[in-house]
Amino acid sequence: MIKFLDLRKINERFRGELDAATKRVLDSGWYLLGKEIERFEAGFAAYCGVKHCIGCANGLEALKLIIRAYGFGPGDEIIVPANTYIASILAVSDNGCTPVLVEPKWETRLIDDDLIEPAVTPRTKAIMVVHLYGRAMDMTKVWEIAKKHGLKVIEDSAQAHGAMFDGRRTGNLGDASGFSFYPGKNLGCLGDGGAVTTNDAGLAEKVRALRNYGSDIKYHFPYCGTNSRLDEIQAAWLGVKLPRLDADNARRREIAARYCAEIKNPLVSLPAMSSSSVWHVFAVTCSMRDELQQYLADNGVQTVIHYPIPPHKQPCYAEWNDRSYPVTERIHREILSIPISPVLTDDEVSEVIRVVNEFGKR
Ligand SMILES: *Cc1c(COP(=O)(O)O)cnc(C)c1O
Repeated sequence: MIKFLDLRKINERFRGELDAATKRVLDSGWYLLGKEIERFEAGFAAYCGVKHCIGCANGLEALKLIIRAYGFGPGDEIIVPANTYIASILAVSDNGCTPVLVEPKWETRLIDDDLIEPAVTPRTKAIMVVHLYGRAMDMTKVWEIAKKHGLKVIEDSAQAHGAMFDGRRTGNLGDASGFSFYPGKNLGCLGDGGAVTTNDAGLAEKVRALRNYGSDIKYHFPYCGTNSRLDEIQAAWLGVKLPRLDADNARRREIAARYCAEIKNPLVSLPAMSSSSVWHVFAVTCSMRDELQQYLADNGVQTVIHYPIPPHKQPCYAEWNDRSYPVTERIHREILSIPISPVLTDDEVSEVIRVVNEFGKR
């Protein structure tokens, strides 16, 4: 069986250094908000090309902290793509803001920038761009609209560590960006982790306080904050993996290029090739998606659906259930992610291609 994602194998490559980092933290006797997080924050800020990085508990928290730090709340609207992972939308609704869902473009699966401005109202405060599946959004129009209407641009970069638009990395494409280091992401820790990046010193200071009960200096609380910290041990492990991120992304691009060149099946549509993607997932579409998934499983290829049910059809957002977002719904009906990861071997890639090309032939 070719696994969709072999996390053990991914981390095994760094075994020696991960063990050393573990020992270092254990021996230090200091487990929260110490040298390890400081070092990682500086390293990740430099990697993204921004002035500030603040580690936090996970990707959802990163996005929530940004919205909270801006002071957005009930009555405020934030534009989000309708086909995103639910966490982007939860970050908005958890703060009491209203998520305004906007359809994606079928070709890129990213928010349709022609539909953003029509969705702007006097209550709109921000546009949340999601670099879904690892593809960096073309920001040209988003920046224009944000400037014209005085809106903040928030990036959800949880799937796109290292992806670039116009020579700038995600994390440096908006006013503030939320990252996740969930184990399966392109840069993943061994548990939960996240970060906020920004060039806005005031926002950075506020997020830094909010993640630690709202405290600026010890036992002094200008804000009612929360507890959303990145552990020293996770920061230390991330520090081991960050220098390998570009090489891992390059390997993902290599595999994506092979899939795009060698998968030739009239029943299977490929994602548009893009140099701005770090291919967090490689999602094909197929009008017989469930049959394709079953066929691949029967032939030893594990796949995942990102995602089977769109947010507006989820029970938790019952008030949206009778709305219709046709592009989003088609994506959720037809999408299927085939294996892609830095540890997939050339032979495994060939086997995935062979099996996908065989689908429907017998
Ligand atoms: C993973 C993910 C998140 C949430 O990150 P967690 O660390 O799991 O909380 C948010 N948005 C997107 C697009 C994601 O893929």
